[in-house]
Amino acid sequence: VVEMAGINKWYGEHHALRDIALGLASGEKIVLCGPSGSGKSTLIRCINGLEPFQEGDLRVCGIQLDGSDEALAHIRQRAGMVFQNFNLFPHLSVLENLTLGAIYARGEPEHTAVERAHALLARVQLTSQTHKFPGQLSGGQRQRVAIARALMLEPEVMLFDEPTSALDPEMVHEVLDVMEELARAGQSMIVVTHEMGFARRVADLVVFMDRGEIVEAAPPELFFEAPTSDRAKAFIGQIS
Ligand code: ATP
Ligand code: MG
Repeated sequence: VVEMAGINKWYGEHHALRDIALGLASGEKIVLCGPSGSGKSTLIRCINGLEPFQEGDLRVCGIQLDGSDEALAHIRQRAGMVFQNFNLFPHLSVLENLTLGAIYARGEPEHTAVERAHALLARVQLTSQTHKFPGQLSGGQRQRVAIARALMLEPEVMLFDEPTSALDPEMVHEVLDVMEELARAGQSMIVVTHEMGFARRVADLVVFMDRGEIVEAAPPELFFEAPTSDRAKAFIGQIS
């Protein structure tokens, strides 16, 4: 679903991504971790074209991100993104947040978009909040709306950038539960998170980045029990 090879990116002088090679197969789950500033957000934002990069080859569902608007539009249909800070439309109801993109960007008839939105709201356990506005919801509820909104695209891959790190601790699990349910249903995903319990339960592959490089990539049992690099060992020591 996602293929990256030889990706290099600079912000001015700062070399933010160094020779990144990463592949995500259909149905696979990757957890991306690493210290602050290591390039995790930059990497995940490159995948749906939110950040340009200078070198390398990046494909989503076989479509190469070549700088054209056409490729960008195709890729954004296939990669759903969920951010730390929800990014909901504050002046639209929960239901409208879900249906807006489908109706206006995809040209879907309103009744089918509404029907799909109701089904997704049930899936993230928010049926009772359908007609509220984002400001009336808790952080955990807002993030579940953001997930449901991204799922309206029926994306081949879901990209999550620290979806629980802005939440109060008691709300973290309700968002992780929804993500685990999606994972069990076979959704391909790349998740930037410091929730190592989630990584152990869900990830097929844990990828550790430091200073713009992929330092280690291994299944969770190997990554946590027998990390090979000193940088990964130090990181695991800090967070667990
Ligand atoms: P965190 O865990 O804090 O979210 P991260 O691993 O997501 O960190 P990135 O946000 O990808 O890290 O940033 C990687 C590096 O690139 C950092 O040194 C950061 O300061 C720099 N950087 C990120 N965005 C920009 C930008 N728009 N302009 C210049 N430098 C940037
Ligand atoms: Mg980040």
